[in-house]
Amino acid sequence: MTMDTAVHVDSSGEDIGHWIDGRRMVAADDRSQPVYNPATGESAYAVSLGSVETVDQAVQAARRALPTWADTPPAKRAQVMFRYRELFYANLETIAELISREHGKTLADATGEAMRGIEVVEFVCGIPQVLKGEFNEQVANGVDCFGIRQPVGVCVGITPFNFPAMVPMWMFPMALACGNTFILKPSERVPSCSIFLAELLQEAGLPDGMMNVVNGDKEAVDALLTHEMVDAVSFVGSTPVGHYIYSKGTEAGKRVQALCGAKNHMIVLPDADIDQAVNAAMGAAYGSAGERCMAISVAVAVGDETANSFVEALAPKIRALKIGPYTDPAAEMGPVITKDAVERIEGYVDEGVKQGAELVVDGRGISLQGYENGFFTGGTLLDRVTPDMSVYRDEIFGPVLSVVRTGNFEDAVNLINTHAYGNGSAVFTRDGDAARTFVRRVQTGMVGVNVPIPVPVAYHSFGGWKQSLFGDHHIHGPEGVRFYTKLKTVTGRWPSGIRDGAQFNFERGSDV
Ligand code: NAD
Repeated sequence: MTMDTAVHVDSSGEDIGHWIDGRRMVAADDRSQPVYNPATGESAYAVSLGSVETVDQAVQAARRALPTWADTPPAKRAQVMFRYRELFYANLETIAELISREHGKTLADATGEAMRGIEVVEFVCGIPQVLKGEFNEQVANGVDCFGIRQPVGVCVGITPFNFPAMVPMWMFPMALACGNTFILKPSERVPSCSIFLAELLQEAGLPDGMMNVVNGDKEAVDALLTHEMVDAVSFVGSTPVGHYIYSKGTEAGKRVQALCGAKNHMIVLPDADIDQAVNAAMGAAYGSAGERCMAISVAVAVGDETANSFVEALAPKIRALKIGPYTDPAAEMGPVITKDAVERIEGYVDEGVKQGAELVVDGRGISLQGYENGFFTGGTLLDRVTPDMSVYRDEIFGPVLSVVRTGNFEDAVNLINTHAYGNGSAVFTRDGDAARTFVRRVQTGMVGVNVPIPVPVAYHSFGGWKQSLFGDHHIHGPEGVRFYTKLKTVTGRWPSGIRDGAQFNFERGSDV
């Protein structure tokens, strides 16, 4: 990667455009919108919003590239991933800068996100091993049976704003390593990182057309969902949009996985180490300004004594949070993504207070000197929240933690199990029995035991239950390989095993 082809780190007045068939382009028929730096509230450049024609161009490129790539031996595909890994590390600072500038998270957090993304690349460096099929010799006399996994075809990824590198990297390295070609439609709020990641793939030796990035909004998404040459769609984003994408995509005959919104609870049991639980809650609720699908947004304290000590220890830490732009290395929490997001988050806090929640720390209405136009809101803590309140029911996606008090462990688990979302959950305890019961009974796709954000490592799979995921497959790891491949089962016999005469009846076992 030569830095002069790098994306717009200091540019102004430009359009980010798309990455199609191995080159950057801005199409004449596209609309565009400004891209903001959430810390300053200013925009120095725009992003194209891909039209139906632009989407078609990308899909055609991916379809043309497919036969060659699907036929490329997995070990050769892995070689591209090995080189990609090296280039990624060499450009880590640029990647973190691109993430932070458009998302707002701290550089340390952006670097952490990028590192979680590269884990997936490291996993697929071993794709020949992962793609090994199953073989049964002599399933009947002279007959063998084996299963192979082949690429699905042209795959699409539609991704949210909150992880500009990691979430796309849950998808495209897996899809490409499995022999598919790919079109990424990133969030229009954080478009630069995806283009840069695609440019790096080209430098790593990925032939043109195999990885494409179409920036855009609903128009581009709809065009992808209905394009007859698209075979599979991975989505990560909010539940209403995910439900729409799952319905529309499956109706059009695509394979779809849609990972969606969340309301993650952590239970604090009376025997938990309160300091550990408080530190865990701080990072999990306020890190990345709460804009993580695995953020903890509800702490369920079992017993008033537990609740009192938890809230007492937590409140001063929230008040001391260092809020600032990503350019300030001391910042622990940055802005949220848009001005609308500030209003939505603070509106939820208003409503929570009206509905009877106790406002312990109020993060509304903060203003940072020199960054008065930035999209900042402070950390908020609400106590005595009840399940009927909107702050409890809805995903707020901001730095707001609600404390719900319950009398016992049973009620705490039932609370999680009756919530509409089922992404992640965690229990804080020293009691192994309670932890084991929690793990067995809780209705969420990812579970932490004294771990607040149990995001699985890349060689396991990530995904929620209930309204947090539509489809059959979780993402990356073994489930990712299943999603991005089709199973073919072959039953074969060679001439020496063929019996004389026609067989008209269905037979089983040794007589097949
Ligand atoms: P979003 O649903 O608004 O957008 C996600 C993607 O869908 C974007 O690419 C966007 O352009 C597109 N989109 C938006 N509206 C659309 C529409 N009406 N029709 C078609 N496409 C549309 O989500 P967001 O605000 O970017 O991200 C935050 C959400 O993502 C939160 O709900 C968060 O929980 C969720 N998320 C989930 C996971 C997970 O793994 N479950 C991970 C990260 C984020």
